[in-house]
Amino acid sequence: MDPNCIFCKIVAGQIPCHKLYEDDRVLAFLDVGPLSMGHALVIPKHHAVQLDGLPKEDAAAIGAVLPTLAKAVSQATGISHYNVLQNNGEPAGQVVMHVHFHLIPKPDDAPRTGGGHGTGLGIGWPTGKLDQAQAQSLVEKITKTLG
Ligand code: AMP
Ligand code: ZN
Repeated sequence: MDPNCIFCKIVAGQIPCHKLYEDDRVLAFLDVGPLSMGHALVIPKHHAVQLDGLPKEDAAAIGAVLPTLAKAVSQATGISHYNVLQNNGEPAGQVVMHVHFHLIPKPDDAPRTGGGHGTGLGIGWPTGKLDQAQAQSLVEKITKTLG
């Protein structure tokens, strides 16, 4: 536990939350600043700042419950579409430095690129075109790192 981390404090019961789910490794609760009704956070109890620093067992535990939580939030809100968002690092929009997955319901009539309050995640998607030489070099580097 990191004593300065707000999510570690929630895990420890030092700060209250609207709890949705808990097991040995995972806690899920409602986001206090929801982008839409039912916006939930799913976090590992283990403190890690970014996803790449999370032990496999904790990552697996989160992966195992995400679909069930998504289904429960969908059924409870009546909103069947949603985004799963996981920010890593300040430039990527991470504010709380403890790994968390956002589960954000997307109302059917909400614009994809963002609307007013309650319309879920607004997404910009500035596409490029994959350069073949760069792709080959990237595949080599990444697969070598994967081992
Ligand atoms: P991110 O920008 O991905 O780091 O998102 C952090 C999220 O945590 C935001 O959506 C906040 O509204 C949410 N948040 C911060 N503090 C709390 C808290 N005490 N309880 C519930 N959600 C929180
Ligand atoms: Zn923490």
